[in-house]
Amino acid sequence: MSSPVVVLIVEDDAAIAQFVAASLSASGLRPVSASTAAEALDEARSRQPAMVIVDLGLPDLDGIELIARLRAGAATPILVLSARTQEAQKIAALDAGADDYLTKPFGVGELLARVRAMLRRAAGSPEPAPLVEVGALALDREARQLRLDGSPVHLSPLEYRLLERLARVQGKVVTHRQLLADVWGSEQVDQLHYLRIYMGHLRAKIEANPAEPRYLLTELGVGYRLADE
Ligand code: CA
Repeated sequence: MSSPVVVLIVEDDAAIAQFVAASLSASGLRPVSASTAAEALDEARSRQPAMVIVDLGLPDLDGIELIARLRAGAATPILVLSARTQEAQKIAALDAGADDYLTKPFGVGELLARVRAMLRRAAGSPEPAPLVEVGALALDREARQLRLDGSPVHLSPLEYRLLERLARVQGKVVTHRQLLADVWGSEQVDQLHYLRIYMGHLRAKIEANPAEPRYLLTELGVGYRLADE
């Protein structure tokens, strides 16, 4: 048997920490818990976890500061746990280098789906795949061509860049700020309407029902992600 995959849980609420640990154990992972940021940094150094789950409300250090310190030490994927009242911090955490988030309260299914997706991405090559596929959609990043059910879909240069930015980290949420900075440029990070307009164009070309997207998923108030299954 190969050694179990260690997941570090940083959460000061004992009930939530226990729930997350039990869920991870049941799916064959090895949870390690820390209830403070100081403990988390020690554990991250000594255990070299495959991923870290970080609660944003910690007693000794701001969760965003902890994420920055964890990020400085390693490329370990970070999943943020946030309360509904922490919308702004959640987005700041993603912009600071966290990979994804869950809003409390969350269920076991949702937690494990996020954890599996993050571990899968971490195990893959650090270079994004030249061919990104999901459902009937296939984006060839080398040929810069999108196919839907095998037929080419014409995209404008901006539409292509927006889709390609999401495809580069398929399955992972990308914040509005990150998308605007990378596709339109750093001076345009507040132009939310650009995103809404171009996401509308892309959905009209790709989605069977743009009002209920299958591929280009909205993370309300946060950003977008390209589905990975
Ligand atoms: Ca907390």
